[in-house]
Amino acid sequence: MSENTVENLIIIGSGPAGHTAALYASRAEMRPLMFEGFMAGGVAAGGQLTTTTDLENFPGFPDAITGPELMDRMRLQSLKFGTRIETETVESVKLESDVKEVISAEGKHYKTRTVIIATGATARRLHIKGEDELWQKGISACAVCDGALPMYRDVPLVVIGGGDAACEESSFLTKFGSEIHLLVRRDELRASKPMQRRVLDNQKISIHWNTNAIAAVAADPDALGIRFLDRVQVKNNKTGELGEIPAKGLFYAIGHIPNTAFLDGQLETDDAGYLLTKPRSTATDIPGVFACGDVQDRVYRQAISAAGTGCMAALDAERYLRERA
Ligand code: FAD
Ligand code: NAP
Repeated sequence: MSENTVENLIIIGSGPAGHTAALYASRAEMRPLMFEGFMAGGVAAGGQLTTTTDLENFPGFPDAITGPELMDRMRLQSLKFGTRIETETVESVKLESDVKEVISAEGKHYKTRTVIIATGATARRLHIKGEDELWQKGISACAVCDGALPMYRDVPLVVIGGGDAACEESSFLTKFGSEIHLLVRRDELRASKPMQRRVLDNQKISIHWNTNAIAAVAADPDALGIRFLDRVQVKNNKTGELGEIPAKGLFYAIGHIPNTAFLDGQLETDDAGYLLTKPRSTATDIPGVFACGDVQDRVYRQAISAAGTGCMAALDAERYLRERA
């Protein structure tokens, strides 16, 4: 491909949003070019689902499917209909003109009429002692995704955070855990009043105010030699008092960071950095640039909702090109 070729559509990102956009666009004969990323934001091509095991809430898989397998299948389906995939991370973009420019980490320049941004968001982590070893072995950043797994049934669980997500996830986990400990770093919750009530009125949830987690401690190896979470060490940040909470699950709900750094502020975002799209559309504030999936979704952040907006973005990009043909 010459550097003067002008693509119809470049899709940046390769999670459920990017691949659904690619599927619709390639079936519409737009011959999209996808940048799937190379460990962009610390996540493999295929996105956040490559970091999880069984997925039980993606429709069509009554016996569950693993995250990596689902993403392999989506990739195959994108390729089957003619999507071209580059295993590269996009370093920067120039979006203002009718013909936009996408610059890869290897310094290659690509021109395109439309761009779909599907770069996802990264869950914030605490980086406490023991976290790396126990990630997905008792520590998770998604209670809605992982909370129903057998390993979290009838055992004590810890949630960290004080926002709506922490409150919602604590309430959700009461369906599975024997008791829920919510660690809040201040002496008040940031969550909305109705969300706060849900937590404060729930007898299964104990709130630990002014409390930080400082380490995750592993149990002895199981029969297969794998070590899972056993307890969480905590510290009261007012009194300095140290303590331990027995827990088989530790769920972070301390916010997400949308992957938008490469955009260098060219698109409008909300106060948390999520891309803003027009109501009932995936259009951003720059014509020909569309956004889908978690990078523009502060609230739902699920694979199926990401896929749904990926479909919308491809249809929006197709209509944009048709109107200018
Ligand atoms: P992502 O999946 O985040 O994919 C974005 C991709 O874009 C990544 O591969 C990233 O590397 C790439 N990228 C980023 N920047 C660039 C760049 N500059 N250039 C090129 N590529 C780039 N949801 C459910 O519905 N059910 C579940 O059971 C479930 N379990 C989960 C378990 C875990 C551990 C996590 C973390 C999430 C889970 N989710 C689940 C949420 C779900 O994974 C996300 O909602 C979904 O993946 C969002 O899709 P996306 O396409 O918007 O972005
Ligand atoms: P959030 O509102 O940004 O809250 C993050 C929480 O994590 C805050 O309480 C923050 O503490 C805490 N936190 C951040 N870093 C921490 C650290 N290092 N250690 C300990 N605690 C830390 O994020 P969110 O709860 O994910 O919500 C994001 C958005 O989605 C919000 O707009 C929210 O309203 C919305 N949402 C809505 C619903 C719903 O209505 N059903 C559900 C989920 C999310 P501080 O308070 O001290 O800053």
